[in-house]
Amino acid sequence: MAKLNALLETEPDENTLISQGTALLTELIATEDWLPPHCTCAGPDRVVHHLLYLHPDDLYSVVSCVWGPGQTTPIHDHTVWGLIGMVRGVEVTQRHGFDAQGLLQPLGSPTHLQEGTVDAVSPRLGDIHQVWNGVADSNSISIHVYGADIGKRNRHAYLEDGRVERFVSGYVSLPEVNNQ
Ligand code: FE
Repeated sequence: MAKLNALLETEPDENTLISQGTALLTELIATEDWLPPHCTCAGPDRVVHHLLYLHPDDLYSVVSCVWGPGQTTPIHDHTVWGLIGMVRGVEVTQRHGFDAQGLLQPLGSPTHLQEGTVDAVSPRLGDIHQVWNGVADSNSISIHVYGADIGKRNRHAYLEDGRVERFVSGYVSLPEVNNQ
């Protein structure tokens, strides 16, 4: 985390943050032997977030997201910049955006994020997507870095019937020692 702290201390613009942050996350996800075993565990019915690190001033959080077989998210936003690095398996992402009538529509085709790949979201780059496990019979795991304490952030889920629901994702587990 020291390298990310150093990067954020330079107060980079978002393009610099995304490109240099992507390089740092690519390094991190090259192996998964550093990942605590409990942070590779899926939940019974939906994607889970294990908190790995929270900056003491809530400047950013690092999370292990685990999808079990067949699990998918609702269409949702993040409201802050985020980097998503695949450490195991495949995640499929479908981006969405509002059309001229203000209706949410899929943007392009789904993207398959393979191991070692980093994707980015932000209100400026495009912040709304739906994600599901691209592997039928095992967990997929990605390491996410967000520019806030994402587990406490007020976010939005866009339901199929057009309703928008506020949600706070929380964490299913917290780090034993928050000093990495
Ligand atoms: Fe997301």
